Parts: sequence; C-alpha cells; structure tokens
Amino acid sequence: MQTFTLGTRLCFGENALDRLKTLGAQRVLLITDKFFAENGTAERLAALCGAQTRIFAEVQPDPPLELVARGVAVLREFRPDVLLALGGGSALDCAKGIRSLSGSQAMLVAVPTTSGTGSEVTSFAVLTHDGVKHPLVEDGLRPALAILDASLLDKLPAGLVADAGMDALSHCLEAVAAKNASAFSDALAHAAARCIFSDLPASCAIAKNGQSDRALRGRLHEAAAMAGIAFDNAGLGACHALAHALGGAFHLAHGKLNGILLPHILEFNAPAAGPAYARLAASCGLSGVRGLLFAVRRLRQRLELPQTLTQAGLPREAVTAQADTVCEAAANDPCAAGNPRPVTKADFSALLEAAL
Ligand SMILES: [Zn+2]
Repeated sequence: MQTFTLGTRLCFGENALDRLKTLGAQRVLLITDKFFAENGTAERLAALCGAQTRIFAEVQPDPPLELVARGVAVLREFRPDVLLALGGGSALDCAKGIRSLSGSQAMLVAVPTTSGTGSEVTSFAVLTHDGVKHPLVEDGLRPALAILDASLLDKLPAGLVADAGMDALSHCLEAVAAKNASAFSDALAHAAARCIFSDLPASCAIAKNGQSDRALRGRLHEAAAMAGIAFDNAGLGACHALAHALGGAFHLAHGKLNGILLPHILEFNAPAAGPAYARLAASCGLSGVRGLLFAVRRLRQRLELPQTLTQAGLPREAVTAQADTVCEAAANDPCAAGNPRPVTKADFSALLEAAL
C-alpha cells in the first residue's frame, strides 16, 4: 500500500499575499531574518494580517537549535494563534522547529522568498546542532498554508536563483528514484523538472542584469513547491544525505552542494533507478539516463555553479580530514534510507572522493 498526502493549502498567482488579510488571526508571530526586517517586507506582511504582531528576525542560515530555543521562548511568552514564516528554507525550517518544539497549535503559514527548498509544503525541517544537520520529519511540520507570491522574488540575486533552482531540481531527481515514488509524485516531479530545465537559465540571466520577470519567476516558484510535494511523499536519497553532512561540516549553500553531487549520485543510482530516470528524461525531452546526466551538467555550467567541492572553495585537505565524520553522518542521515540503491559509508567515501 502507498499513500500520497496533500497537506498544505496553496495560494498563488497575482496578489497572493492578500490572503494574509483574511487569516482572521489575533496574534501573529512572524519569523524571518534581518534582511526582511530591515527592508520593510516583514512590516508590510504584518500590516496585511491586521493583528497584533511580534517580529522575530534572528534567523540565520542553517538554523542552529539554540536559535530555535530562543524562538520557542518568544512564542511561549507571546502566545500567537498564527506563526508566519517569511524567507528562504532557513526561516521556514526555523519556524517549523519553533512550532514543533514548543508544542504550539498556532497555524503555520509559510511565505517562501526563494524557489528551491519546497519547505513551504513539506513535513521536513533541517536544524543544525554541533556541526551536524538533523533532518526532522513529522506530519505536524507541514505548513497549513503556503503563499507563493512572485512579487517577493523581484530582487533575488543570480547566485541565489541558481542555488535554489539546483536544489529544486535535485528534489525532482531524488523523488522519481526514491523508494516511495508513485504516479502522483512522478507527475509533479516531472512537471517541475521540465520547468526548471527550460526556465532556470533565463531567470538567472535576468537576475544578473538586475531585472526580474514575474511570470518566469512565478513558474519556477510553483515548480519548487511541486518538487517539494513530490519529495515529501516519495522521499529523497543519497544526494541529500551527503549534502546535509557536508553542509553541516562546511556551511556551503545546500543547492551548490546538491549541484556538485547530483551527477555522481545519478551514476551511482543508475543500475537501480535507470527506468525512473529514463521516464523523467523522456518527460523533459531528453534521451535516456545519459541525456539526463548531460542536461544536469550543462545546466550547472550555464548557471555558473561549481562542479567540484574544491571549485566551491573547500580545501581538499579540510574535506579529507573530516571525510570519516562526514561519511558517517551521511550514512546515518534519514535521507540515505530512501535511496533506491543501498548506500554504505564506504560508498559515501567514494562519492565524496569523486566530488572533490
Ligand atoms: Zn534540498
């Protein structure tokens, strides 16, 4: 028996943020980072809610448990009926952690400002403790409402467009091969991957020129959420297991790491997941697993993303020195269990060596 869960109501399209006006909230705790507090976006969203609002703007990348604990203290004191998360994956994951650890029943509303993690629709949150990323997976983490409003994406820097887009693509490629993949998750992963292959290079080029294209950005924003729903149901695999372990140790952007690892994981998994990759390739107008592999490498090049860990600025010696800890963490990461081909610590060592 298989299941497929649609747990998050989506609001999207023009003026999607207006949904905040009808939440009926009394007290809103808004979780975000300094950037959105200082540029006025947090205040603007708070005003739309028409409720008493507290802004917690301490979110940092790779949110550590101590930060979540501070947020829990604020939540317990303020007692909100809505928890509004505004930002990239870190802000959304931080809000999920705060809600879960506090035991609060506040409605979680996610407003993503990057198009990658899919955290707005998933039951996953990744929190960091002592240099190790811990993915939490609980049904209760899934936001009740996600608002996808492309007007928040106008000023995204090209680097963030590329990193986030590559993360979303890796969600598609891991979801189609993962152990719980189904016709439902495939349909979403295929549609999202088609959009990413066709629209991501243009979105990145436009960002480089300091411009935006809301229709294009909106399509990619929706694709990231589709990829999120797909992997939330199907699971992930070795790429995310190793990316979490490396990200915890070296704090390199999650999407960059996935981009570096993805071709190696595709080759490793091909003996077990060849037909799933081939179906995805066909759906994207590519020819077989080879065509898919070529398209991933070509996309990475067009986005000017690093191809190796050393190109990404990680010194070979530093990675080698921590290789044992990193591979141990990857083998213990819950995502490893969803990989279509059994993957051991020794396999992760070989994959890490290949990605150097
Ligand atoms: Zn990811």
